[in-house]
Amino acid sequence: MVDSPLSVPFLDLRALHAPIQDEMDAAYQRVSRSGNFILGEEVAAFEEAFAAYCGVAYAIGVGSGLDAIHLVLRSLGLGPGDEVIVPANTYIATWLAVSLTGATPVPVDPLFRSANIDAEDIARALTPRTKAIVPVHFYGQPADMDPINALAEAHGLAVVEDAAQAHGARYKGRRTGSLGRAGAFSLYPGKNLGALGDGGVITTDDLELAEHLRALRNYGSPKKYAHPIQGVNSRLDALQAALLRVKLKHLDRWNARRREIAERLCDALSDLSDVALPHSEPWAEHVWHLFVLRHPKRDALQAALAARSIEALKHYPKAPHQCGAYAGHVAPGDLPRAENFAANVLSLPIGPHLADAQVEFLIQGVRDACASL
Ligand SMILES: *Cc1c(COP(=O)(O)O)cnc(C)c1O
Repeated sequence: MVDSPLSVPFLDLRALHAPIQDEMDAAYQRVSRSGNFILGEEVAAFEEAFAAYCGVAYAIGVGSGLDAIHLVLRSLGLGPGDEVIVPANTYIATWLAVSLTGATPVPVDPLFRSANIDAEDIARALTPRTKAIVPVHFYGQPADMDPINALAEAHGLAVVEDAAQAHGARYKGRRTGSLGRAGAFSLYPGKNLGALGDGGVITTDDLELAEHLRALRNYGSPKKYAHPIQGVNSRLDALQAALLRVKLKHLDRWNARRREIAERLCDALSDLSDVALPHSEPWAEHVWHLFVLRHPKRDALQAALAARSIEALKHYPKAPHQCGAYAGHVAPGDLPRAENFAANVLSLPIGPHLADAQVEFLIQGVRDACASL
C-alpha cells in the first residue's frame, strides 16, 4: 500500500451526512415545494418524534439551545433577585440563559470524576433566593439526577436540564430531557443531533408549561392575533425540523458508534501516565458528545497532535467566570476545580464521522505525542 496520509478532523459534517444525503435532500424538496416555512406540520412532526424519543409528553422547537434554556426559565417566572444554580465549568450559554431573565447564575464547582455538578455541592450553594437548578449533562454524560431532584423537592426548586450535549443519553434507563421539570436541547450543527443551522428544543411532561412555551416562542401568541403574554420570536424552522426528523432516526446508531470509539480510546490509552481519561458512571449511558481528557501539558499535547494531523480542541479554555462577560462575578480562587478543568482539558476527535482506521491513527498519534512531550 502506498502512503495513505490519514488525518483526524474534530468534526466532519459532510462525512456524517454523506450516507443519508438522499433522505435529507428529499426532506428539503418536500418543504421547499410546500411553501410552508414557519411552524406548521413539519415542526409539529419533529416535536412529536423528539418527545417520543425522550419519553416525555411534549416538545417545543425553538431558535437555539440558549433560547431553550432561557425561555424555560422565563416561563417558570424567574427574574431579578432570583438565583439559579449552574455548573462553574459549563459553556457560557447556560449562565447567559439565566442572566437573560434578570436572575443571577450561582456557579457550583464540578466533580473531577464526572465533570458534572453534584447534589452535595449544590446544597452548600443554596440561599433563600435560589429558585432553580440547571444541571448540565456535560460532555454527554447525565448528571446524578436523583439526589439533585430530591434536594430540589425538599427546597421547592425547579430543575431544568441543560441537555445540549446529551441527546439520547440515559440516566438509570431514562432519557435526558425527561429527568427534570423541563429539558433544554441545542440543535447546533455539531451537537449529537444537529440541524443545518441553529435550532433548539424543549422537552417537558407539564402541559401548562408546554402551552406557555409554545406561545412565548411565537410573540406570546397561543393563536393568531391573540397576545396574552409578551413573547419573543424563537421558532424552529420547518426546514430544519424536516431535516432533524431524518437525522433523529439515525441518532441511536450514531451514539452507539461514539460509545464504541470511546471504549476503544479508554482501553488503548489507559496506560499513559500523565493522561486523566474521562470516567463514565455505572448508572449513565454516556453519549460522548466530547471525549475530554486532562493533561498537565495540554497546550503542548494539542500542538503535538496538530503536527500529526489530529485536531484536538479545548472545551472550554475559560470557565464563564474567567470571561469578561462575568468579570467580578466570583471571588478569585472560589472555583478551583472549574479553573483546573479550563487549564487542563483537551477534547480528542470522536464521532460517527470517524472510520476505524482514523481511530487507530488517533490512538497511535496520542501515544506518540505524549511520548514526545
Ligand atoms: C451548545 C450548548 C448550549 C447552547 O446551544 P446553542 O444552540 O448554541 O445556543 C448551551 N449549553 C451547553 C452545555 C452547550 O454545549
